[in-house]
Amino acid sequence: MNDTIIGIIGLGLMGESIADACVASGYRIVLREDRAERIEAFLAGHPATADRITIAEDVRELSSCSIVIEAIVEELGAKLALLGELDRVAPDAVIASNSSTFMPSELASSLQDPSRLLVLHFFNPANLVPLVEVVPGPQTDPAHTETVRRFAVTIGKTPVVLRREIEGFIANRIQAAVLREGYSLVETGVASPETVDTVVRLSLAPRWVACGPIATADLGGLDIFAALTARLFPRLDAGIETPGIVREHVDRGELGGKTGAGIYQWPPERRDAVKRDMADLFAFAAELAEAHGQAER
Ligand code: NAD
Repeated sequence: MNDTIIGIIGLGLMGESIADACVASGYRIVLREDRAERIEAFLAGHPATADRITIAEDVRELSSCSIVIEAIVEELGAKLALLGELDRVAPDAVIASNSSTFMPSELASSLQDPSRLLVLHFFNPANLVPLVEVVPGPQTDPAHTETVRRFAVTIGKTPVVLRREIEGFIANRIQAAVLREGYSLVETGVASPETVDTVVRLSLAPRWVACGPIATADLGGLDIFAALTARLFPRLDAGIETPGIVREHVDRGELGGKTGAGIYQWPPERRDAVKRDMADLFAFAAELAEAHGQAER
């Protein structure tokens, strides 16, 4: 068992799987969540490790935590209020926010001591996806960044540390760039969503699992990619609005997997099958990284 106590605030989709990863790695955890049913469900799912799980009625009960992971709703006001309170009641904790969109410098504005806050960005589902992005702000103490990086390793993650903060960090920026062009190809009548997805699944994505997009281009020949980028960059979609194909579905309440339909139909069996495939592929990607001795190759 590990003596370090990890605090987790917000036991929603992300907090639950982060808490799961911490408990599975032998940590004692203190959970703070507004909704009693979320706490009950988590405790019911972890009967064997109940002695290592403390439920906090108040943020003050997180004062003994070495690291506190904030995973509440993505609303700046709510996060700032909570982080300000945490700053007062847990003066020795390193505070790691799981925010997907707010930068550490924005979140640290409510702290007396901004040096102990950074972003630790997990991916959904956090107990399955190996990668986490560690994003220090301009005022984050490098020693705290290293503490959080090491912690991520102890719960079985592969952390990458950004050299400086940037909106969207790395993964969401790349994802947004790919999606902008993918949606554009559909909206301009070049291909169906199915065709765009098939092209990525059976050509680009496996190469990216093997070594990533920059190494793929390097391997293929930079002269080719110099010509490709020179010709295509000026011709790629450069829109800054949310694409119509997305907006229209959202306006109709068709949110995808979570409502059963989006651009695709998502009956539960199809949703579950895709999630199983993703679990297998993440395990394979982690094995590949392990077999070659390093995640960044
Ligand atoms: P969620 O809505 O599923 O969960 C948030 C939980 O926080 C809820 O259970 C809510 O009751 C609780 N909560 C809200 N305010 C609280 C407070 N002050 N004290 C205690 N509990 C409180 O949200 P989520 O999808 O788990 O996202 C949480 C965070 O993780 C967000 O910052 C989000 O941007 C980030 N994130 C989400 C994803 C994703 O795919 N969903 C991926 C990476 C990061």
